[in-house]
Amino acid sequence: MEQELHFDSIISFIRGMYPEKSYVGLHEPVFCGNERKYVLDAIDSTYVSSVGSYVNLFEEMMAKITGTRYAVAIVNGTNALHIALMLAGVTRGEEVITQALTFIATANAISYNGAYPVFVDVDNDTLGMSPEALSSFLANNVVKKSDGAYNKITGRRIAACVPMHTFGLPCRIDEIRQICDNWNIPLVEDAAESLGSYYDGKHTGSFGLVGVFSFNGNKTVTSGGGGAIVTDDECIARRAKHLTTQAKVPHRWDFVHDEIGYNFRMPNLNAAFACAQLEQLDKFISDKRLLAKAYEDFFGRIGVPFMKEIPEATANYWLNAILFQDRTHRDSFLAFSNNNGVMTRPVWELMTRLKMFRDCQSDGLSNSIWIADRLVNIPSGFRSR
Ligand SMILES: *Cc1c(COP(=O)(O)O)cnc(C)c1O
Repeated sequence: MEQELHFDSIISFIRGMYPEKSYVGLHEPVFCGNERKYVLDAIDSTYVSSVGSYVNLFEEMMAKITGTRYAVAIVNGTNALHIALMLAGVTRGEEVITQALTFIATANAISYNGAYPVFVDVDNDTLGMSPEALSSFLANNVVKKSDGAYNKITGRRIAACVPMHTFGLPCRIDEIRQICDNWNIPLVEDAAESLGSYYDGKHTGSFGLVGVFSFNGNKTVTSGGGGAIVTDDECIARRAKHLTTQAKVPHRWDFVHDEIGYNFRMPNLNAAFACAQLEQLDKFISDKRLLAKAYEDFFGRIGVPFMKEIPEATANYWLNAILFQDRTHRDSFLAFSNNNGVMTRPVWELMTRLKMFRDCQSDGLSNSIWIADRLVNIPSGFRSR
């Protein structure tokens, strides 16, 4: 009974955040900038596919926002990750370290490259890869050779490490970078959820060799579907564009391709949409941070743990999250809220519990398991227009 009242007060608070909505979704995009104008402009230009001025503008905007030298527009975040791993040098039969608590795309992109994911634990306060878990996994299982780091058990090379900034909360990326540097392991950041999130004043996605973003409809900024790769390395940027445009050798009329390429370029129509959305990024982030602050105060008052950025970080608070004392309470809240017109959901099933990745190597994953039992995402959409 007491628990029900508790749930009731949470639901009324969330409803109070969205007074005009009868059903409160998890995250809906808003289009009140230049979206229509730019898309119509792209239509009028006849450049609707993979070539066009908005694709270039989008890349310029992304490089500026993330503080990187280059950005390459990709058709979606999953394909951006696929290519980012290729750029880092991942090849068939190698291994890539990532976190068990992530969206499926991270692990799928590793598989697309014919590589094996290895899953390490997350920190309880960031929900992102734990530097301690990473360094102890490496110390216990990996040996450094002249040409890279090798898994002692499987003999395979550890070709990359992919931490993820969960729900836009930055992980301890600086420490992870240090560890990767020490072990000579290329760092690829899955920053799909963290556009507008910073660690020590530096944009997430800009710490590693390459960073990846997503512009899917449920992310903070959307292009309908879309992705981006950012890097400071000119060769990598050039190769990213080459690989994602069918590896066609530039020529005015000849059709010559110099390797197996991909049709992964973001269409100009989507880029036009993305540019209009990116113009509103600051407004979006301040709106989301205000909501997170209101949640933090409320959940603090009723004694429910709310996931907050760590002191070194500034989060975009893409999706807000709270923790229940155990799986039973979590499940009753999920049922109660979804039955009462407020959408909530648990965190993704851990990768190691999915049949495709069940046999992959992992560390103990104690924090990941603890979090997976307790975490619930609550409505995080924009409130102002
Ligand atoms: C959304 C997301 C992706 C994939 O992005 P898409 O654009 O949907 O392909 C990859 N990784 C994470 C962590 C994501 O949340």
